[in-house]
Order: sequence, then C-alpha cells, then structure tokens
Amino acid sequence: MKTKLAITNARLIDGASPEPILHSVVLVGSDGRITATGRSGELPVPEGTPTIDASGMTLIPGLIDGHQHLTLDKRLYSAHAAREDILSLDGPQRQLVRAGHNAQLALAAGVTTVRDCGASDYSVLALRDAIEAGDFVGPRILACGRPITTTAGHIYTDWGVDSADEMKKAVRLVASQGVDFVKLIVSGGTTSPGSNITRSQYTLKEVRVAVEDAHRLGLQVVVHAISTDSIRLAAGAGVDTVEHCSWIGSDPRTTITDEGAVSLMVRNGVRVDHAIIPRPYLFPDEVDQPLTAEEQWWLDMLKVRWPFLHVMREKGVTVFLGTDAAFGLWPGTQLWPGFEDMARAIEIIVRWGGFTPLEAIKMATSESARALELDHDIGTVEVGKRADLALLDGDPLTDIRALRHIALVLRDGALVADHGRIVLAGGRCASEGIRRWELPQ
Ligand SMILES: [Zn+2]
Repeated sequence: MKTKLAITNARLIDGASPEPILHSVVLVGSDGRITATGRSGELPVPEGTPTIDASGMTLIPGLIDGHQHLTLDKRLYSAHAAREDILSLDGPQRQLVRAGHNAQLALAAGVTTVRDCGASDYSVLALRDAIEAGDFVGPRILACGRPITTTAGHIYTDWGVDSADEMKKAVRLVASQGVDFVKLIVSGGTTSPGSNITRSQYTLKEVRVAVEDAHRLGLQVVVHAISTDSIRLAAGAGVDTVEHCSWIGSDPRTTITDEGAVSLMVRNGVRVDHAIIPRPYLFPDEVDQPLTAEEQWWLDMLKVRWPFLHVMREKGVTVFLGTDAAFGLWPGTQLWPGFEDMARAIEIIVRWGGFTPLEAIKMATSESARALELDHDIGTVEVGKRADLALLDGDPLTDIRALRHIALVLRDGALVADHGRIVLAGGRCASEGIRRWELPQ
C-alpha cells in the first residue's frame, strides 16, 4: 500500500507501551491506517512521502471523550436552571447547528472520538452521519439519543419508563432510531432536584431486561449511576459502562465505596467512566475563589472516589475519562469548562487523582477505546489502527498541561485541525500548516 504520510522525530506516546519512543517514525497508508511505527534511523521513510517533521513535539493517539452532550445547553443541564431559562432555550434545529460547532471545538482540542451520552432528541445522529459521510468535519461520534429514565427521575421531561415491560419497549424504540448504544438513568442526579441521588430508580430486573434486549440488538448499555446501591445493581446486571460512579451513600453527605460491587464489575466486564465536569474549582491555581457549599461537597466526595479508582483498576476494572461537557459557561460564572476541555479532565486525574501522566493519557485513549469496544480500530498508535492522532507542543509526561496545546489533529490519516483551525476536506482552508508540510488530501 502506498504510504500517504510520515510523521518523524516526535516523542511518541502510543497508548500501549510503558515508555515513549523519543525519536519516532509513524507511517500512514493511503487507507488512513497506520502501516508502521518505529525509531528514527531504524524505520526508513519511503522516498517522496509527505512528511511532518515533529521535532520537539509529542504524538499521541487521538483523545476519546467518553461523555459529552453535544446538543445540550448547560442551562437545561444544571440544577441552577430556572424555569424561564429552560423555556427560552433555543429550538432543536439551532441546538443541532451549535452541536456541530461544539464537535469541532472538541476535535481541534485533539478529541477524535466523542461519546454523546444523552440529548433531548435524536438530532445528534444526523450530525454523526453527516460527519461520517464527509459533509462536515468533526470527530467520530457515538450517540444514544434520548436516555431512558423513570417518570420524575433524573432528566425526566415527558417520557417515563417505569416497568420491565416498558423497559423492553423503550430499548427497542431507542434502537429503532439508529443509536450506537442505550443510555439508562439508574440513579437520581444532582441536576434533577427531587430525583433522589441516594437511591436506584430502577430494579435489578428492569436493568437486566434492558441489558438483555440491548445486547441482543448489538447495543451497549451505558448507565448513569451515582448512588452506591445503583452502582452495585448496575454491576450485577452486567451493564457495559457506569458513568460517574460517585459512590453516594444512603445519606447524601457520605461516600460509601463497595468492593463487592467492584467484584461484580470484574466478573461482568463492566467499565467505569470517571466523567466529572472539569469545573473551575478543581484548578485553584488558576481560579482563586472560595468553594461554594456544593463544590465542597463534590470535592469531599471526589477525595474518596479518586483513591478508590486505584483500587478498582488494581482489581481489573477499566477506568476511562469524559468531560460531561454541555454548551455554555458554567452557570453563574464567566468560565469554562466546555467541549475543548478533555485536557483538563486528564489533568484532574493526575493532579488530584494521583495517577501518572502516562496512566492518565491511556485512560483517555487506549483504555477508553477498550471500554467502548473500539480497541480494534482506535486508541493506540499501532500498525493497523486508524491514524487518529494528535500532535502537541511540549512533553505531557513532564507537565500534563502540555495537552492543552494541541497543534495538529488527524482523523483517519487526514489533517482535520491545525492550531485550533478546522481544516476542511480537500484542504479548502488557507492554512499555514498545509503549506508548511504540503500534506496530501
Ligand atoms: Zn452527562
């Protein structure tokens, strides 16, 4: 196969190896997949191959954000929402256009795959399909459309699913829309007052029905579960991924971890998405404001959750990362976070969670790919994988904040973002990067 592109001299963090390759060569074939990786001086670059000389830069697998909401507005998504805010939200068409922009923000920040974990309709599937058809430049999207919840449950609006029979019907309805996975809301949520964050809102039987039918249809079951009883129930039912996994005890002021639930996760192959919003209070060196009572509560909870992530991983649970991003500023502030903040989600796990930069990068690349069952295709820089790649200035292994400085992003071997600018298919964007490296299209 013809070699379409070579990337030379980068420090390569391939998502699989325990050490980086300091002066690497990565070759990409005309099918957009990686054909060879090696060391500079050992792996020859075929003559005439367009080449990016990435000296001084780091090459990583494209990041995977395990949890975004591309079409949602934080006003709707937040306990801060006032009824008049919700009523004045833009309509679905406007939200979909904005979702395209949101997806590009993520892409330019090195995120080549986004899992959209819930929306008020199925419009994000149109964005997913437009990107795959080449009509729009964006990350690979996996989407679930409308999550399944109970009447009066977390994020309930007008569709409650309240029994095992209704669950079976709901899974089939969602599947009929062409979703990639089923999202199930198994516990209450902090952003839905009255939904009860300390208790499961479904029975084991109901969740099992969802898992059995979704798996029969070839769909994963992704669950929102923040209370300890809901996490145990979801693990026992054999769901695919648990989002947030906050271990909130029967008293919401307590965090109760449960090793029995972890054993069920290991036995049933359940993966865990950290999925906390990288909110400003987690960056006290940048945002010097006293914590609100709510932030203090979150932080106290997280300080139990983070050490337990190490326990879970040691027992064999795959842990991965997501931003839970939605549109807009955090209510009441003029600050991030947004769709471009996967780097901050990774920083949190290093600076607060006690993981090494390499472990954290794997949790956003190779381990995410494994969690999403896409590891045959993406998540590492290895021969045969899709060339979903990010090049960044500096060395994230010495300072994880280097991940904020993504220079170039490639998807399936094509340049899609250059220093924050989206590159249209065919290179129709006047770009210093294209001229400098004369990249093929
Ligand atoms: Zn979410």
